[in-house]
Amino acid sequence: MQFIDLKTQYSLLKDKIDSNIHKVLDHGQYVMGAEVGELESKLADYVGVKHCVSCASGTDALVMALLAHNIGEGDVVVTTPFTFIATAEAIKFVGAKPLFVDIDLDTFNISPEKLAEALQAISNKEQTIHSAVCEDINQIKAVISVDLFGLPANASEINKVASEYNLTVIEDAAQGFGGSINDKKAGGLGDIGCTSFFPAKPLGCYGDGGAIFTDSDEIAELLKSIRVHGQGEDKYQNVRLGLTGRLDTIQAAVLLPKLEVFDTEIAQRQNVAELYTANLSNVDGLTTPSIPEGYTSAWAQYTLLAKDDAHRTQIMEHLKANGVPVAVYYPIPLHKQKVFESLGYSAGSFEVSEQAADRVFSLPMHPYLKVEEIEMICKLIEEV
Ligand SMILES: *Cc1c(COP(=O)(O)O)cnc(C)c1O
Repeated sequence: MQFIDLKTQYSLLKDKIDSNIHKVLDHGQYVMGAEVGELESKLADYVGVKHCVSCASGTDALVMALLAHNIGEGDVVVTTPFTFIATAEAIKFVGAKPLFVDIDLDTFNISPEKLAEALQAISNKEQTIHSAVCEDINQIKAVISVDLFGLPANASEINKVASEYNLTVIEDAAQGFGGSINDKKAGGLGDIGCTSFFPAKPLGCYGDGGAIFTDSDEIAELLKSIRVHGQGEDKYQNVRLGLTGRLDTIQAAVLLPKLEVFDTEIAQRQNVAELYTANLSNVDGLTTPSIPEGYTSAWAQYTLLAKDDAHRTQIMEHLKANGVPVAVYYPIPLHKQKVFESLGYSAGSFEVSEQAADRVFSLPMHPYLKVEEIEMICKLIEEV
């Protein structure tokens, strides 16, 4: 059994993917070929925004979004400590500082209430755990909300709080792409959305890739410049710092047929999740994922909470012993990572994230998981 099965999908789409790759090999436009533009326009339609600017990875998408908003040295960006390293890494990479705000345990996403409290306290010049990161509210320029495990973060509340402080909302939809809140798609829930096409993400290519979504003509133009070394009107005019941030044409060619079946796959992931939850919601000491009314998760991961660390170890060992792959996303919250030591946070700074890190585990999740496999996994968990 596989944690994420990419081969079954390939076998179903093989003809289209192979012929698309060969088209690129034949026309030879390996960089910014026609497939890239075609994909961008389909992705923009999918999300329901005006512009999609594709790029080389989800991490580049975040870096480019920050650069396009002129965020760097001296600035502060709020985000969650319970996410993949790339979210906060991008902030530090552009020279700004991440300011962490704890999550809600039921969604694993940043808590809008705690966001409001933190901003209020800093704006009142109160003594907070953030003093090494930020003492002046005017330093804070943006919030990166993360759609963790596929569930969109609470966009309406986050956007409301952010607008009170004039902050840009950057949605990290690397895991949430394909999810939605009341028919508004992930990637389009903030001011600007970023996603990743890393193979294991809900929509993955066969290497690295990413995309950025915005309704702003001006930001889209900036992103296109940043994507190619900050180029100006002409290729050899450079007007700002940028990077080599393009999506390969071959990856766009791989993504086109995958996008056609994406909604079907999201529905299949939903079926897998529902079957897991039906079997596991009454197991003693386990907490199954809760999806708020009106939200659709992309189910990048199916993540449960065990009673405690020991209970989690017991379950994981029993599953592994029986050939079922399991994983912990994420065992160390970012405020406890060495790279962020200088922010001055410590153990206990974000108790909910720390609790989540001690208790979460994720089960195999992909659209082609069979009913028998799901039932077998659930039975093993019940045995513990
Ligand atoms: C995967 C991921 C990224 C980074 O994407 P890459 O394409 O691997 O650079 C960023 N944020 C989150 C939440 C992710 O899961």
